[in-house]
Amino acid sequence: VPKSFSDALPVLKKITDHGYEAYFVGGCVRDLLLQRDINDVDIATSATPDEIKQMFTKTVDVGIEHGTVLVLHEGEGFEITTFRSDSTYTDHRRPDEVTFIRTLEEDLKRRDFTMNAMAMSPSFELVDPFQGQKDLTARIIRTVGKATERFQEDALRMLRGARFAAQLDFTIEEETLKAMFSCSSLLSHVAVERKRMEMDKLLSGPKVSKGLYYLEKADLVKSMPYFPLDSKGCECVTNITLDQLNIQQRWAVVIIVLEIEDPVKFLKQWRHSTKRIRHVTSLVELFYARKKQPFTPYSLYKTGLEMAKEAEQLFSIIEMVKDEGKLLENLWNALPIKTKSELQVNGKDILSWINRSSGPWLGSILNEAEQDVIEGKVKNNSSELKKWVTQWHQKYENQY
Ligand code: ATP
Ligand code: MG
Repeated sequence: VPKSFSDALPVLKKITDHGYEAYFVGGCVRDLLLQRDINDVDIATSATPDEIKQMFTKTVDVGIEHGTVLVLHEGEGFEITTFRSDSTYTDHRRPDEVTFIRTLEEDLKRRDFTMNAMAMSPSFELVDPFQGQKDLTARIIRTVGKATERFQEDALRMLRGARFAAQLDFTIEEETLKAMFSCSSLLSHVAVERKRMEMDKLLSGPKVSKGLYYLEKADLVKSMPYFPLDSKGCECVTNITLDQLNIQQRWAVVIIVLEIEDPVKFLKQWRHSTKRIRHVTSLVELFYARKKQPFTPYSLYKTGLEMAKEAEQLFSIIEMVKDEGKLLENLWNALPIKTKSELQVNGKDILSWINRSSGPWLGSILNEAEQDVIEGKVKNNSSELKKWVTQWHQKYENQY
């Protein structure tokens, strides 16, 4: 039994000791049966949020309107959600109201896919009213109940289906896939942030090409932020081995393979964070620069070793050439300085050496000194730099 389950057992025990039911539910049960790593366990109970709060001394209301209470037990947090059913959905994304109920089965019925609609008792008995285990074994993604109805209720489920296909390398069952296609336009009702979160998970998966295949096949792309995926794009991604790449590199692959012209605009449409946008666009730019020519000591210095290695890896994977990351490390180690602060000359020195008042020229001369040091044209010591500065000044006095 994985630690995340055994750690939670005392919490479930306490609930059952009070005469209520408590189960492990959803993704953690699925992942346990698949022997995948388990991030966090979700607990479902017949007790109401108020009843849970009376049982435990330390609780946090994290989502009380959906019936979720966070219980702190021995330094760990456990999300406990009251059995609930979701009422009608008029906006295709959120139930109009949630109703607390006392039976597990009804709670499982509101869940999206059969593999996510299983529960496990504290004594590890499986509760599986929708044949989730059978579908897990057959590696099939199938909605609980009628697919079109379930997607009309919450259109995000379609994108979740594609992302589970990418994460688990599963096949989407035929009726479910058909319903995805016929309901695809409803996805436009869902907030971009939620779609981005699912896309991040899809792109992080070990079978990205499978997830993209379903996005294209079910025509979900038309209801997402701009994502010009066609069967050719899918095929291109299939031929790229993404295993070693982080999520920023993977978004960069998307931009490069789908030939996105304005990466900043694209990433903004997907509501990525500023930090993420900066990282991904740098990678894309470095990729195209690397295509023109390998890193030089100066471009490596400007880029920084970590980013340069990420770009080199991206380049090697897309262009199917050897990853020269090791070479970059050697090049980096051989750099005379790693940052500008290590330069043995600053503005004050220069002003004391030559008779000229401060101005933009000072920045230019320092940048050139920095580049010449990196390129080995001048040694990084004060006397050499002084000679270099004097010569520079004689040559360029009138230009800068
Ligand atoms: P992950 O590994 O990404 O956490 P997960 O299956 O645990 O996968 P969550 O988003 O954490 O996914 O949701 C937990 C459970 O809640 C799911 O397993 C599923 O039973 C249910 N669920 C989540 N989102 C939906 C939804 N949109 N519609 C129906 N049920 C959902
Ligand atoms: Mg989860």
